Amino acid sequence: MDFAFVSGNPALDLTGTVLSRRDEPVDLLAVPADLERWVAACDELPDRVTATPSSFDAALNLREAVYRLALDRVLGRRFDTPSLRVVNDAAAGPLPTVRLDDAGSRMSGDLSAVLSHLARSGIAVLADPGARLKECGRLDCTRVYLDRSRGARRAWCGMEECGNRVKAAAYRARRRTSATPAGRPER
Ligand SMILES: [Zn+2]
Repeated sequence: MDFAFVSGNPALDLTGTVLSRRDEPVDLLAVPADLERWVAACDELPDRVTATPSSFDAALNLREAVYRLALDRVLGRRFDTPSLRVVNDAAAGPLPTVRLDDAGSRMSGDLSAVLSHLARSGIAVLADPGARLKECGRLDCTRVYLDRSRGARRAWCGMEECGNRVKAAAYRARRRTSATPAGRPER
């Protein structure tokens, strides 16, 4: 499955590499090479990093800590202390370097620098009282995203990922209802 970058923040996008967290979680980052592909696919990060088994573990640790803190925000709870420690420790490390040229900017650094950058991105959004963090309205999805839409009326992580699926399912349900003579008309 392709990675989705729909959460509006790279640290939240990282948490979205586990799908269906409540029921049957699917982890898209099963091996270090998956993480290397994810970093390469993320626009905000270096094109190439090498993940060792230990840096891969650190990345998954950071991912789960950011997810826990984001969920704490969504649910209006106090932040989980061990997760705060993981994110704050990651954020304290050296950052990637950024260079500007006519083609745009290019970031480079190793995976630990990438994790520092991700941790800081996560902190920026988690600390922002105006950031509207939401869980996707499609129950099976469980992605957390930043709603930047006007009026904060966005209901899904992404239209392609979930919105269209929900709408198609609702359409099929309506058709089933109207095809049954005894079916109650929808209000
Ligand atoms: Zn979704």
